[in-house]
Amino acid sequence: MRREFSRRLKAEIIMRSTNGDGLVCCEGCGLVLGKKAYEIDHTIPEALVMDKGAKLKASDGKLLGKACCHTPKTADDIRRIRKADRQRDKHTGASSRPSRLQSAGFAKAGPQRRATSPVIKWRGYQP
Ligand SMILES: [Zn+2]
Repeated sequence: MRREFSRRLKAEIIMRSTNGDGLVCCEGCGLVLGKKAYEIDHTIPEALVMDKGAKLKASDGKLLGKACCHTPKTADDIRRIRKADRQRDKHTGASSRPSRLQSAGFAKAGPQRRATSPVIKWRGYQP
């Protein structure tokens, strides 16, 4: 299951990233976003978090501008997750592989996925 930030946490993060002029700023690069699109990003990608029982805190999220930081980071997260997954596989064998990786999180990567073997492999391990 992917943990999501509650409305209250999001508000807390947005408040934290608002500057003295009341403008929302990117917490990745400091760019003043104002009305530009932003996302609350999971500092640690959910797919890499082992303890899903822990409650999310405001410090687990970062407000990132969509264009400046969020889109590039998401692409990087996917690479990290794939890498971590391959490494885990080597150590523990495929049976402990979580099948949830292909769900919720990274819809935008859709078109590419069919071309890569990991996703196809993961499907096979779904209960
Ligand atoms: Zn940024």
